[in-house]
Amino acid sequence: MLTVIKFGGSSLASREKVENAARIAAREREEGNRVVMVVSAQGDSTDELMSRAHELSAEPDLRELDVLLSAGEQISMALAAIALHELGVPAVSLCGWQAGIVTDGEHGGARVRAVHTERLKRELDAGRVVVAAGFQGIDEKGDITTIGRGGSDTTAAVLAAALGADVCRIYTDVHGVYSADPREITTAVRHGEISYDEMLELASLGAKVLHSRAVDIARREGTALEVLSSFEQGSGTRICAGGERREVTAVTSDAAVAVLRVKPAEPQNVAELLARLAGEGIATDMVTCAGGELALSLPSEQAEKAVQSLREGGGEIALDGDAAKLSAVGAGMAGSPRAAARMLAALRREKIEIKMVYSGEIKTSVVVGREDRRRGLEAIHKEFFE
Ligand code: ASP
Ligand code: MG
Repeated sequence: MLTVIKFGGSSLASREKVENAARIAAREREEGNRVVMVVSAQGDSTDELMSRAHELSAEPDLRELDVLLSAGEQISMALAAIALHELGVPAVSLCGWQAGIVTDGEHGGARVRAVHTERLKRELDAGRVVVAAGFQGIDEKGDITTIGRGGSDTTAAVLAAALGADVCRIYTDVHGVYSADPREITTAVRHGEISYDEMLELASLGAKVLHSRAVDIARREGTALEVLSSFEQGSGTRICAGGERREVTAVTSDAAVAVLRVKPAEPQNVAELLARLAGEGIATDMVTCAGGELALSLPSEQAEKAVQSLREGGGEIALDGDAAKLSAVGAGMAGSPRAAARMLAALRREKIEIKMVYSGEIKTSVVVGREDRRRGLEAIHKEFFE
């Protein structure tokens, strides 16, 4: 079997943790597997490198920033390989370019275009564990790129797909995918299995356990994905096609949401306002238009830019910059408003004001005030799981 195993920053944050990750890789290999180990930078070191660049410049050059940030993973990979050698396991560390990961030239958010697997295969054939740096690649010019924050999951999924791995295991500091983030909701229950579609929605809606692009790649390639704890042996969560159709599988929240309400001078200007936002590259989330008023939710960081661009279009604009989104995801929701009704009732019992609601095929989202996020999430979780 060929397995790709990925360790995040929290699973590599100290010497002991690096040794622990190396032991897991060694165990995988003892079981007769060919092993590719993908590593993130240790702990918060990517953030630390980022602040060092910002101490020197408000807008550091993106190419140089990638050179700097990619160093975090380069440290991890060498340490992990050294720890493996100590365990008597043959291992070799490879940077993105050495592992054949070719991306476009979008520094800071590059997309993987191809993986040239010759070197990887050669090392695996020689019986070595390959420790690959997550989060990085090389562009056509030969420059180092990074593929977006949290991108090591994506590196793991990309390598698993390119090598035709039997499974891609994401080792992290929780035991799998839960009905809510167990670090926040202590009564959350772990799922043995969840579908790619549900996981993709959850990741896009703010769940931090897996990066959405990684789930998307695994789904497209049909790679079996697992989320497991690096600190305790246990069964974890399998992400696969199909699976149980629960009305709600998990709830999650996003605390960085803004709501904009616009009353255009002429109702027919709504299309023009939306086109204006699209032209500015603003990512709207929920959009409703009723009674001549346009309401939309969007990431808070884009709120100011959106207001500016709408102001040029005229009309009345009201910005509520302190909102949060609570979402429930479940394949068994199947377009029925039942889950939405239960969510709204749970929030009403808590006297939480609801600003917007969206009910779709497998997700329902509600926008509330940011101060109500935690309480609302608890109420919804209780409604479906306790
Ligand atoms: N070290 C990178 C980051 O912090 C990549 C990752 O953790 O997946 O964003
Ligand atoms: Mg990290």
